[in-house]
Amino acid sequence: MDCSYFRERINLYIDGEMGYLEVAELQSHLSFCPDCAAELAEVGEVRSALAAWGRLELATPPGFVERVMAAVEVEPAPGSPKPFGQAVDDTLQKLDDTLGRIPLPGGRTIPVKNVIGWGLAAAAVAIGLGRRHGRRARELTPL
Ligand SMILES: [Zn+2]
Repeated sequence: MDCSYFRERINLYIDGEMGYLEVAELQSHLSFCPDCAAELAEVGEVRSALAAWGRLELATPPGFVERVMAAVEVEPAPGSPKPFGQAVDDTLQKLDDTLGRIPLPGGRTIPVKNVIGWGLAAAAVAIGLGRRHGRRARELTPL
């Protein structure tokens, strides 16, 4: 069974951009194809997580962007170059020291570096899923 036709339509389905007949066609395929049903569930979860991320409107303090740009300008280290991971840690720590915490609705605050970490994590998840989907598609391609 070549599922690629249906896999391409899962995003359209979630976005509600398909006509009645296309929806019926996809739904009948999903009813007997557990792989595509799992794909729909997975894509739906990621999409709602990203949508929730977008809805989290953080009130940035005055001068926030300027201070971020100043903090991420990593000056060249004297002597041997730092390992990349250490440089990232240093930069995040520097951001934390510079920016402090972001106020959330309800009086709570979160460290700025956590927000950046979540963004990186969301990007990593999206890249990982893309890779996994690509591998699965190749496995399913008939010879
Ligand atoms: Zn399928």
